[in-house]
Amino acid sequence: MKDIATPNRTKMILEKHGFSFKKSLGQNFLIDTNVLNRIVDFAELGSDSGAIEIGPGIGALTEQLAKRASKVVAFEIDQRLLPILGETLAPYEHVKIIHSDVLKANVKQVMNEEFAEGQDVMVVANLPYYVTTPILFKLLEEDLPIRGVVVMMQKEVADRIAAGPGTKDYGSLSIAIQYYTEAETVMTVPRTVFVPQPNVDSAVIRLMKRPKPLVEVKDEEFFFAVVRASFAQRRKTLMNNLSNNLAGIPKDKAMLEKILLEIGIDPKRRGETLTIEEFARLSDALYAQKTAV
Ligand code: SAM
Repeated sequence: MKDIATPNRTKMILEKHGFSFKKSLGQNFLIDTNVLNRIVDFAELGSDSGAIEIGPGIGALTEQLAKRASKVVAFEIDQRLLPILGETLAPYEHVKIIHSDVLKANVKQVMNEEFAEGQDVMVVANLPYYVTTPILFKLLEEDLPIRGVVVMMQKEVADRIAAGPGTKDYGSLSIAIQYYTEAETVMTVPRTVFVPQPNVDSAVIRLMKRPKPLVEVKDEEFFFAVVRASFAQRRKTLMNNLSNNLAGIPKDKAMLEKILLEIGIDPKRRGETLTIEEFARLSDALYAQKTAV
């Protein structure tokens, strides 16, 4: 049997089931096995590895993962795809499809149930573009026992992830990714390898989990609250953003200014110019004040 991801077989499968794409679910299916194989290569799966996929569609990527991993677990939100996947993936008994919105799923529990303790597991997916950022935050913040993530996304979001201080793309996503992972854009993908074709080009990024976060902070949750507040209104200074958007810190601007100066950060700077190390210093200094009040 030919691979699912060839243009002809995909067309046949879609026609047979009378499937119509839902744009609102980010349904752009891959029809190029070379691209799929390269994505799977970047995950460096061994024959004992497990894979988690988000949004299998009609199974194009799932099939390639199933050929290399010992177990594949895929979360699909669209019920109409379940009977199709039942057919297309019938030869692969070690694939499990879970009908669920991945954002609502208890991924940790699923991992406990489906994978062996200590098993090497990678997340590999062609993400639904409308929820790329929340999915990435979920994968990072839930501290899942995974080795890393190889995912396709809109090129624009990949640029945001890779952005450094002082650029327009730099934001809380860039900081969160750096904090938890080593990130790399491993390939760019033209829109022509999808049906239907999206309006944008795509990129595949690989995020390898760090053994421990890049910077040490006293309170992780507060660190991310400081980062979010600092980027809340890009045109405002760090001082203004912090005093307007961060709960639990001195509202007295003179005091806030003093704290910033003490840690060597000019209060007139904008949040988008701070490195992750500076954010860590800032968060710890504010946290000390917070707990002292
Ligand atoms: N993996 C397939 C491929 O590469 O051809 C399909 C990728 S398509 C870009 C995204 C898939 O994610 C669709 O099948 C869509 O129904 C599914 N999806 C969208 N939102 C989802 C969510 N919140 N949870 C799980 N799956 C979702």
